[in-house]
Amino acid sequence: MKICVLPGDGIGPEITAEAVRVLMALDMKFEMEEALLGGCAVDAAGSPYPEATQKLAQAADAVLLGAVGGPQWDNNPRELRPERGLLGIRKQLGLFANLRPAILYPELANASTLKPEVVAGLDILIVRELTGDIYFGQPRGIEMRDVDGKHQRFGFNTMHYTESEIRRIVRVAFDAARKRNKRVCSVDKMNVLECTQLWRDVATEVADEYADVELSHMLVDNAAMQLVKNPKQFDVIVTGNMFGDILSDEASMLTGSIGMLPSASLDENNKGLYEPSHGSAPDIAGKGVANPLATILSAAMMLRYTFNREEAAQRIETAVKKVLSQGFRTGDIFEPGMKKVGTKEMGDAVLAAL
Ligand code: NAD
Repeated sequence: MKICVLPGDGIGPEITAEAVRVLMALDMKFEMEEALLGGCAVDAAGSPYPEATQKLAQAADAVLLGAVGGPQWDNNPRELRPERGLLGIRKQLGLFANLRPAILYPELANASTLKPEVVAGLDILIVRELTGDIYFGQPRGIEMRDVDGKHQRFGFNTMHYTESEIRRIVRVAFDAARKRNKRVCSVDKMNVLECTQLWRDVATEVADEYADVELSHMLVDNAAMQLVKNPKQFDVIVTGNMFGDILSDEASMLTGSIGMLPSASLDENNKGLYEPSHGSAPDIAGKGVANPLATILSAAMMLRYTFNREEAAQRIETAVKKVLSQGFRTGDIFEPGMKKVGTKEMGDAVLAAL
């Protein structure tokens, strides 16, 4: 079980260190090696995704990433920006399935801007297609055209999906649902977009392979509304790149606690890149106050999806629930009456709970 560890920038090194400690405590046979990605890689090797990192990432079974980016690299030429490293590794590893759980632990129900009874105990999973859709379709551009009797600027993009692209992402959602509450809601806009009519048709075909999982369909505008109105009706939501981009951010904000949300991006063989949903938080970097739980929970997702070790994944998730019920809180989720701790103390608490 080879893991490539990419701490990255900002709080990245602090939070990945805690996730690594948790993985090591499981007494499983991991081989871990660290490499550079992002701004630190630009500074040390002149590239946000250096060759040495590429080799290590390609040879590993899974990648654990902290976060990349920071103001010191914001004015670099585009090819030397930290984000290029992230896009590069996602593309090179063929990571087409983005899994973002939105979980709100009952202890943190007050962190949400929604009423506690609407969100307490929320546990949904958004499965977003990452490599297709209108974000990548050709032709695209802005050009001068003669339209409506006027010579004017014309902007255009192309939405497309092949049935095989749809089938493989919908299967990821069904497989994930099998490990959860066995319900998939496929989100599209079939009343207007032919491309998403195909999405609905293929999703319906895939459902025939999974008699034990229930499939429903929802139009994206209704899904956006239902996520706020009654988010607990969902188990797994599967959708395309653009709708998934928007809905996964909406869903993650239902929880109000960015330091708690893990994510996974998987390839065809369940090799994956695991990272917290938040960024490198330069404002608190180096202070030892960042919340490591999103990264620790990302490590749990790694055990579940790449290494197929559901029990070990649940051990970590149960330990996280335990430290929350014991009252341990980093600054981002702190409430009066709780025990305020830093990054390392939170890691210590999870280790003790394990
Ligand atoms: P951010 O997520 O880094 O920070 C937003 C706010 O949340 C900040 O106030 C930060 O202190 C807080 N925060 C984030 N994670 C936290 C944690 N674990 N514990 C406690 N507080 C936490 O978003 P941003 O400020 O918009 O971006 C900062 C940098 O991160 C930028 O350079 C951006 O490009 C980059 N970024 C990277 C990724 C990634 O690596 N996947 C994702 C998003 C943003």
